[in-house]
Amino acid sequence: MKCEGIPASGGIGIGAAVLVAEPDLGYGNVVFSGVAAEKARLAGAVAAFTAETTAMAEELRSQVGDTQAEILSGQVMMVSDPYMTSQMNAAIENGVCAEAAVDSVCGMYVELFSSMEDELMRQRALDVEDMRRRLLSILLGRPRAELKRIPPGSVLVARDFTPSMTVGLRRENVAAIVTESGGITSHSAILARTMSLPAVLSVPNIMDLLSGGETLVVDGSSGSVLINPDDETLRNYRALQGEALARQADLLRFRTRPTHTADGETVSLCCNITSPRDVPNVLEHTGEGVGLFRTEFLFMNRSTPPSEEEQFRIYQDAARQLEGREIIIRTLDIGGDKDIACLDTEPEENPFLGFRAIRYCLSRPDLFKTQLSAILRASAYGSIRILLPFVSCLDEVRSARVMLEETKCRLADEGVAFNRDIPLGVMVETPAAVFLADKLAREVDFFSIGTNDLTQYTLAADRGNSKVSYLCSYFQPALLRAIHMAASQAKRAGILVGMCGEAAGDPLMTPLLLAFGLDEFSVSPTAVLPIRQAISRWTREEARALADQVMGLSTADEVRTCLKANVR
Ligand code: PEP
Ligand code: MG
Repeated sequence: MKCEGIPASGGIGIGAAVLVAEPDLGYGNVVFSGVAAEKARLAGAVAAFTAETTAMAEELRSQVGDTQAEILSGQVMMVSDPYMTSQMNAAIENGVCAEAAVDSVCGMYVELFSSMEDELMRQRALDVEDMRRRLLSILLGRPRAELKRIPPGSVLVARDFTPSMTVGLRRENVAAIVTESGGITSHSAILARTMSLPAVLSVPNIMDLLSGGETLVVDGSSGSVLINPDDETLRNYRALQGEALARQADLLRFRTRPTHTADGETVSLCCNITSPRDVPNVLEHTGEGVGLFRTEFLFMNRSTPPSEEEQFRIYQDAARQLEGREIIIRTLDIGGDKDIACLDTEPEENPFLGFRAIRYCLSRPDLFKTQLSAILRASAYGSIRILLPFVSCLDEVRSARVMLEETKCRLADEGVAFNRDIPLGVMVETPAAVFLADKLAREVDFFSIGTNDLTQYTLAADRGNSKVSYLCSYFQPALLRAIHMAASQAKRAGILVGMCGEAAGDPLMTPLLLAFGLDEFSVSPTAVLPIRQAISRWTREEARALADQVMGLSTADEVRTCLKANVR
């Protein structure tokens, strides 16, 4: 039998189904034992939860990294929030048992967070739900299934995975992950990708279809799950899995090699990050620096913007960890799909064409100069460049430069150390920046082509709207022409040109980008080795010959087909 779900983490996993079911958390039979006794039971459960979760966070930190661990630390903060516990105690005072108090208060927060538009807030609903279930299982004395002791070759199947469920999980025992709910940004997806496990999510009714022990073939690239396939299918998938593993082993050879084209030209291969906590992952994947630090994430989920000192420490931390490797810090890219609650923005009719990124920052010199000052101060500790997002005319660059120079003057007056020649670059992510690339190139030190936005604005197709996703493709000839124009103008002016949009991480695009003269690729850490391998397979000359052919094509399908046929 074949089921389909969301392909969330690539690769093929074959193994025996292990169902990770939640214990029965019904508390209908629990008798109310008086206000004082129930409050004491609640306090005991909260203390046990806190101790258990703190220990889990530590274990997870060493196992899979900070991001997953922080979700658990966040739960400890939530459960120790005096307002939340006072709400639970108030419920007990109304005559209900501790279980019902936990259930109703957590349930209220789950409902509140799930109704919010913001994806991060909806994610928080899952954290509170996890907290609700674990507090109930402590109160009821019904522990959860232990994932620590699963046998090798297990395919884990659950309604959804939370970080707390995966503590102690041994990567080498897990063949793949399958869930009944959760999407591409869920904890399950992030966990699977972090652990490089094949995963298919949101497979309808999968928990009911299985009883445990069935042989499952999980194809995390296509999103299919086969239940008890026949011998021939199993043999075919094993062969595919073997090829994939061989490819993986081949990729590992590129860990110790510099990034060179086939004719020995060096290209820079960096990574995109959102926090200094991502830097160890960059280094682990042999990224050569940071080509894009998206600083807007520092402004999210908080009630006031980060101060200059706080930002300085963050940029300094990233620069120090990179030990002299380059880091490009992009100034605040607010707006569009990135809503930042701590800033005084108003809802707009058309946020993607509105008051965003550099436009907003130039109207808030206080905020912009605070960030510039923090970046400048950090520039004394590493090789930092500044990148301006969403530029669409020269006036924006000139105004930003004035503010940068004013900030430099102030710091110099104060005797603060910084790099006076800090390079200033622009994102080329609007069609206007492409048409103006010759002029822009004369006034900045480098370009970084942002294909995510450049695709949506060139094709006039929302990058988040699945109905127009056929247009939102970097294989569209219109977009290729735009990239080519921007890169050519950078080359003509003798400035560096990089790319930090998703197209830089697709090996199919590599020969085209080499042909256009790209100096730097900035990709997600997991794309470093595939792109280094792809770069090593082309001379610029060969890449140019293929680009000549591709640039004569008329549709995105033709482009993709031609690139696939020539992949090396
Ligand atoms: C881009 O637009 O390509 C880009 C890298 O920026 P972001 O994805 O942050 O908008
Ligand atoms: Mg962008």
